[in-house]
Amino acid sequence: MNNIHNVLIEDIEQANNKKLSYEFDDIIEEIPTKGNIYANLTLESLGEFIKVTGNVKLIAKLECDICLNEYEESMDFEIDEMFAKSSLMEEYGQELELRDGQFITDLNGENEIDIKDLLYQSVIINLPDKKVCGINCKEGVFETDETYKIPDARMEVFKNIKVDRK
Ligand SMILES: [Zn+2]
Repeated sequence: MNNIHNVLIEDIEQANNKKLSYEFDDIIEEIPTKGNIYANLTLESLGEFIKVTGNVKLIAKLECDICLNEYEESMDFEIDEMFAKSSLMEEYGQELELRDGQFITDLNGENEIDIKDLLYQSVIINLPDKKVCGINCKEGVFETDETYKIPDARMEVFKNIKVDRK
């Protein structure tokens, strides 16, 4: 697959101190955002492993769990990921947890790291558990919330409609 955001392991190995900086400033089609996703990453070769650290910033467009309206959520988090160059962990499967929250991803002999995929996975993991559009959107306060829409009574008609088959 031709992906401009793939980084060759070879390029990391040949960089100064085996450390390569990578700046991502692009969209990821699968993640609705306002503007681009920004990431400032450092890829470092530790022999059998590649360590990826850095900061990720984006404004995600999410759907509120309560009112179902779309809202924007500013996200700003750190990445700390490890990749294994060769299949060292066949018996452990695709992902091995190194310590709380840190996983080693097996590259399965791939010669490059897919930055877009890495960022996609990290955004998904860092999404808030409860997506709420604002402090005024809380369960049980709908009566005092002017923006709350009363279900359109006319819609009830459709529920009771009976098709007269002749
Ligand atoms: Zn809401």
